[in-house]
Amino acid sequence: MSRSAHPAGPRHADVLPEGHYIAPATDLNVLDEKVWSRTVTRDQDGALTVGGIEVARLAEEFGTPAYFLDESDFRARCRAWADAFGPDADVFYAGKAFLSRAVVRWLTEEGLNLDVCSGGELTTALDAGMPADRIAFHGNNKTVAEIERAVEAGVGRIVLDSFQEIVRVSHTAQRLGKRQRVQIRVTVGVEAHTHEFIATAHEDQKFGIALADGQAAEAVRRALTLDGLELIGIHSHIGSQIFDMAGFEVSARRVVQLLAAVRDEHGVELPEIDLGGGLGIAYTSEDDPREPHEIAKALSDIVTRECESAGLATPRISVEPGRAIVGPTAFTLYEVGTIKPLEGLRTYVSVDGGMSDNIRTALYDAEYSVALVSRSSDAEPMLVRVVGKHCESGDIVVKDAFLPADLAPGDLIAVPATGAYCRSMASNYNHALRPPVVAVRDGRARVIVRRETEEDLLRLDVG
Ligand SMILES: *Cc1c(COP(=O)(O)O)cnc(C)c1O
Repeated sequence: MSRSAHPAGPRHADVLPEGHYIAPATDLNVLDEKVWSRTVTRDQDGALTVGGIEVARLAEEFGTPAYFLDESDFRARCRAWADAFGPDADVFYAGKAFLSRAVVRWLTEEGLNLDVCSGGELTTALDAGMPADRIAFHGNNKTVAEIERAVEAGVGRIVLDSFQEIVRVSHTAQRLGKRQRVQIRVTVGVEAHTHEFIATAHEDQKFGIALADGQAAEAVRRALTLDGLELIGIHSHIGSQIFDMAGFEVSARRVVQLLAAVRDEHGVELPEIDLGGGLGIAYTSEDDPREPHEIAKALSDIVTRECESAGLATPRISVEPGRAIVGPTAFTLYEVGTIKPLEGLRTYVSVDGGMSDNIRTALYDAEYSVALVSRSSDAEPMLVRVVGKHCESGDIVVKDAFLPADLAPGDLIAVPATGAYCRSMASNYNHALRPPVVAVRDGRARVIVRRETEEDLLRLDVG
């Protein structure tokens, strides 16, 4: 098929339909290194390579759609976080962003700790050899069976999320003859997203115990009286994809105020404070995330200052980045199937995956970028919407972006920054087969999570 067989959609900024657009890059062949993992580059023919391997070869060997994870980038990010926070703080990778046995081994080797929030994540972590005392167990409704497994395994901490759980964990620990280290998760009335935060958010959410109305102080009171618990600190997590540190400032101040109140009432200085995760990454060229060392410095300055003014010794800080570690390390590779230009509107580009491998656009209106990666092109930019193959008109992968107007079926396109919350939230909608995750490093590619097969689907269907 000729590359210009279809009429192109609108191309220039002055004829675009309503919406939010990032101006097309002056040269669509240039990759913005902010949104691509560290070893991604274009070779002399214009094809994208990762870890030294060309995407066409990866597509041939592993098929599409598929996630390609840049292992050296993942490890470098782990080290950057660990180095930035140093030996007096703890970095917990939030496993819900993406977890597999290989990932657990990398984390273990790079010295990170791990957050899990279900029995399944706990099993994966233990199976791959993460020492239990480096695991934190989260969740607003852990089952009694999950609590038992966590306590039995000896996890480093359980983050208590409710009054019922304070009692459940204590009873379980006592029954097993143990004393479980715990933190209490509080909601500080701060809500933070990307560029803005609200310091007076109401606490109308399922997670945590409210600081307001003395609820959190009451939770501490109860936890301190129970023999099965060793209360080591207070936990708060304020949002996701955050760039502005001001939300952390307010939440740290409120948590430190609770620590001071606990000291005044009980004569106990709790030794730890966990500020949660939620640090933002670049999905598009418009996002400017901070480096881990800037974040570490900002958080430690805030906590130190607040503790000084409350007359407390500075507690040990922990943080829980998920997206900020794994998000930028992977891209999803798709093959273009059909192309539908709508004159005066946009061109719909359908790929061989969709909302089953990336639900974030449909769920959160997330923004992504996209590039033609199997070749370079000098064609002018065309406004596109990249959509999937599912039976749902909201099945959008990239809402508004520009691709070269000579895009054709069979071309490979890639969506960067899909390492977090894409494979981990993938579904079998329309009996789609969930894509593999392929780790690429130093010219070698290996499957770490294999592609589902139709046999996998039928195996669960036992009717
Ligand atoms: C989701 C979550 C994280 C990780 O969030 P990211 O946005 O991936 O950094 C950390 N801590 C808790 C308690 C969470 O629920």
